[in-house]
Amino acid sequence: MRGRIRASSSLHWGFVMSSSQHVAVVGAGLAGLACATALVAAGHRVTVFEKSRGVAGRMSTRRGEGWHCDHGAQYFTARSSSFSAEVARWVEAGVAKLWVPRLAVFGEAALHRADAALQRYVGAPQMTAPAQWLASALPAPVKLGVQIEGLQRVGAAWRLQVGAALLEDEFDAVVLALPAPQAAALLQDCAPALAQQAAAVRMRPSWALMLNYAAPLELGFEAAFVNQGPLRWVARNNSKPGRSGAESWLLHAQPEWSEARLQMPAEQVAAELQEAFAALGAPPAEQWNAHRWLYADTAPAHEGPPAQSVWDEASGLGLCGDWLGAGKVEGAWLSGQRLAQQMVAMANTMSRASNS
Ligand SMILES: Cc1cc2nc3c(=O)[nH]c(=O)nc-3n(C[C@H](O)[C@H](O)[C@H](O)COP(=O)(O)OP(=O)(O)OC[C@H]3O[C@@H](n4cnc5c(N)ncnc54)[C@H](O)[C@@H]3O)c2cc1C
Repeated sequence: MRGRIRASSSLHWGFVMSSSQHVAVVGAGLAGLACATALVAAGHRVTVFEKSRGVAGRMSTRRGEGWHCDHGAQYFTARSSSFSAEVARWVEAGVAKLWVPRLAVFGEAALHRADAALQRYVGAPQMTAPAQWLASALPAPVKLGVQIEGLQRVGAAWRLQVGAALLEDEFDAVVLALPAPQAAALLQDCAPALAQQAAAVRMRPSWALMLNYAAPLELGFEAAFVNQGPLRWVARNNSKPGRSGAESWLLHAQPEWSEARLQMPAEQVAAELQEAFAALGAPPAEQWNAHRWLYADTAPAHEGPPAQSVWDEASGLGLCGDWLGAGKVEGAWLSGQRLAQQMVAMANTMSRASNS
C-alpha cells in the first residue's frame, strides 16, 4: 500500500514525504545504493530494482574457474570530506582497503600522471564489496534481475513496467540511478524535459581485457597509466589486497579507440590489446576474457560545475549517477547522497507548510 498522499495534482508532487512514503530506486550501482541508504535513514520506504544478478554496477568483478578480476572501476579516491568519512566506514567494516601499487606511466606523462600522494582504495576482497555491504544493510533486499522498461503515472502514483506488464507496487517517487543514456531512454515518454537533459550527456565506452597467466608475471609495476596506443590503463588484479586465485591482469582501452571498435569481434580486440601489452613487456596470456563497457566515463562536455543530482518535485522523479557527480566512484556516491538530501529537504519544507 502507498503512503499518505495529500494531493493528486500531476503538476505538483503534492504530498508530504512523510516517513511512510514509498520510493523506487532503479539501479543498484553505488549512486542508487547511496541514495537508498540515505532515504531509509531519513525514514522512507525504499525498493531498489536492479537488472543484473548482483549489485555494484560498474564497480564490478568478473569471476571464472580459479580466477577473478575487477573489470570496471579499478580503484577509488576520496577527495570530499563526506566521501572520506564513508570510505572510512567501509575500511572499518573490512569491505575496502588501501591499494599501494608500484605505478608506471607510459607515453605522454602530462595526460595521466601517477600522483604518488594520492590514496587509492579498492573494494575488498573484490570491487563489489562496498556496494554489497550497503545493499545488505537495507531493510528490504534489492530486487535483482528486474529490468525496468518504462515508468507510468497512474493517478498520483508511479508504476514501473517490466516487459509488457506494470508491477503492482505504487510509488510516490522514482529515482533513476543509471548511466545518462539509460535514464534518457526511460524518461522519453513520461518526462521529455528530463530525458533531454540526460540525453545531452555523452558517455564514452571502453573495452576491457582480462588476462590470466599460469605463473606470476613480474613487469616491474603493478599498475600503469598508458598514454600511447590503444591502452589507457593496466593493472595486476592480484596485487590488490584480499585477492586470491590465478595471476590476472586487467587492460582498459582508450575511449576513442574503443568507440571505433565497438562492433569489432572480441577476438580481434583482444589480439590488438595483447599486442599493445606485449610492447610493455608482457608475454601472451594463457586465457583471456573481454568485456565491452558502453559507459566507462563522461565526455568532458558540459560547462560549469556538475549538477550532482536532479530532483523534479513536480513529477516526483529524481536522477543521480556518476555523470551528474563529476564521474567516478566518488561522484556516484556524492550524487546519490545529494539527491536523497534534496528529496528529504523538500519533504521537510512541505511538511512544515502543511502543518502551519
Ligand atoms: C571501464 C571502467 C573503468 C573505470 N575506472 C574507474 C576508476 O578507476 N575509478 C573510479 O572512481 N571510477 C571508475 N569508473 C567509473 C565508476 O565505475 C562509475 O563512476 C561508478 O561505478 C558509477 O556508479 P553509478 O551508480 O552511477 O552507475 P552504475 O554503476 O552503472 O549503476 C547503474 C546500475 O543500474 C542498473 N540498471 C541499468 N538499467 C537498468 C534498468 N532499466 N533496470 C534496472 N536496473 C538497471 C545497472 O545494471 C547498474 O547496476 C570506471 C568505469 C568503467 C566502466
